[in-house]
Amino acid sequence: MSERERRLARNENLFREVNERIREVGEEFDVALAQTAHFVCECDDPVCTESVQVKGVEYERIRANPIWFVVVKGHEDPSVEFVAEETDRYNVVQKTEGDGADVARATDPRS
Ligand SMILES: [Zn+2]
Repeated sequence: MSERERRLARNENLFREVNERIREVGEEFDVALAQTAHFVCECDDPVCTESVQVKGVEYERIRANPIWFVVVKGHEDPSVEFVAEETDRYNVVQKTEGDGADVARATDPRS
């Protein structure tokens, strides 16, 4: 695996961990699954600080797939992923099969 791919995968997995904590806090405060919450963009840019509005139920569905990540529209990196779903508020990217997808699966916080 190239150093660049490893680094990109690390960034996305870090943001995913942050969102897992956001979701946990939402559950503790009993935020309804139908409500939107601010999650951090899970793109591979380490200095991206943008957020996306995602409903709890949508987040759960995205997280059920270990190689899916939620990003601000336009933050996709076509060299390592492709857009699996588009919405008005965010896009879902799927890691291209290969090293990036392997890392995403290996570090899946839900597995
Ligand atoms: Zn981003």
